[in-house]
Amino acid sequence: MQSSNHRLRDMEQHHPLLSAGADVETGSLAGGVMVGGPHAGHTAGNRTLWFIQDSCGMVCATMTWFLVLYAEFVVNFVMLLPAKNFWYSLLNGATFNSLAVLALASHLRTMLTDPGAVPKGNATKEYMESLQLKPGEVIYKCPKCCSIKPERAHHCSICKRCIRKMDHHCPWVNNCVGEKNQRFFVLFTMYIALISAHALGLSGMHFFTCVKVQWNECSDFSPGASVLLLIFLCLEAILFLTFTAVMFGTQIHSICNDETEIERLKNEKPTWERRMRWDGMKSVFGGPPSLLWCNPFTGLRLRRLLLLTHVRRGGSEFSV
Ligand SMILES: [Zn+2]
Ligand SMILES: [Zn+2]
Repeated sequence: MQSSNHRLRDMEQHHPLLSAGADVETGSLAGGVMVGGPHAGHTAGNRTLWFIQDSCGMVCATMTWFLVLYAEFVVNFVMLLPAKNFWYSLLNGATFNSLAVLALASHLRTMLTDPGAVPKGNATKEYMESLQLKPGEVIYKCPKCCSIKPERAHHCSICKRCIRKMDHHCPWVNNCVGEKNQRFFVLFTMYIALISAHALGLSGMHFFTCVKVQWNECSDFSPGASVLLLIFLCLEAILFLTFTAVMFGTQIHSICNDETEIERLKNEKPTWERRMRWDGMKSVFGGPPSLLWCNPFTGLRLRRLLLLTHVRRGGSEFSV
């Protein structure tokens, strides 16, 4: 029953626009390709930044940063710096801080990368003619953003766009997870799970060490403040470890089955050629398996960043 409801909703969103050879009526469509808009930046011409202006998403994304920085503070200033073993502090500090930087970089890349948005209002006569459709071939138009909807694209009501291979909209990264930013989202969940596990391990060690000596010898903070800070860190770490580990597993499972979360929920029969297991991973992460898959800085061009900074200083952050 539930899956038939999903299918019906899907049908409502997929309005067949035309078959090849049919007369194209474009009078009711938005003219030309709309770029930018009040809710989303667009990457046209590689000159503008992709950023979803959704208040809930912006609050959640800021909270994510705040929570990671809180963990950094407790791990560094409450546990590692006052610790007497230099090598223990150095090795754990280097590991934890490197993982935290990688987690925050993955978060930024997920949030600021165009997830695979279909240009708004591209359902124009000229564009359809350029597609050179075969006789009998049917294409679909999204009635909400007036775009030609490619196979496996879905409309996101928060981004107000159709997104290729949309998996879901995640407020924690204030963006959709789709074809072009899924790899960064997977890295984000992985690094958050790793720093959460590491923070839990360090907290356990700290409690274990401190019960053997006086608490005020163990930390620069008062015993009460240290315990409160550590308890909050442990609760945060348990919550995020559970959440991100489950999410990471679900994402890897989806990639290995070449099926998005939406397709799984709608129980869609695949009409596309499925890329299973390693082929699926290669198509999302790009190239043969290597350590580069874990690098959230891949494809980042310094020149483009400088150009973005230049455009923003010019006061036209979301324009093209
Ligand atoms: Zn749409
Ligand atoms: Zn979205």
